[in-house]
Amino acid sequence: MKFLTIDDSITVRKIIIRTLEQAGYEGSEFLEAADGEEGLERVAKAGEVELVICDVNMPNMNGLDFLRALRANSAWAHIPVLMVTTESSRHAIAEAMEIGANAYVVKPFTPEMLQSAIRGLLG
Ligand SMILES: [Mg+2]
Repeated sequence: MKFLTIDDSITVRKIIIRTLEQAGYEGSEFLEAADGEEGLERVAKAGEVELVICDVNMPNMNGLDFLRALRANSAWAHIPVLMVTTESSRHAIAEAMEIGANAYVVKPFTPEMLQSAIRGLLG
């Protein structure tokens, strides 16, 4: 499996990756990006990504703009995207789901919350 975690906080990226490893995806490839623009570069380079876990609030290119760009490209439109947001940015979730996000979790999340959202998407 190839996962892409996009978040401007390196700490959050590490927590997400550790949670994925503990959820049984430890043999996977974990790509990271610090903003949406870097995220698009990673997807373009990786060719195929099974799941994107994407923060909403980021400098340069935020999660909503990343999602819009991803969905606008027919090669990437099918990639499942799990949005991660804070309680204060909850309003962005409705917009993210409209753009084409598949699920979301609100920070601070427990490993169980993240794992259950990921299992829901990957089956
Ligand atoms: Mg952020």
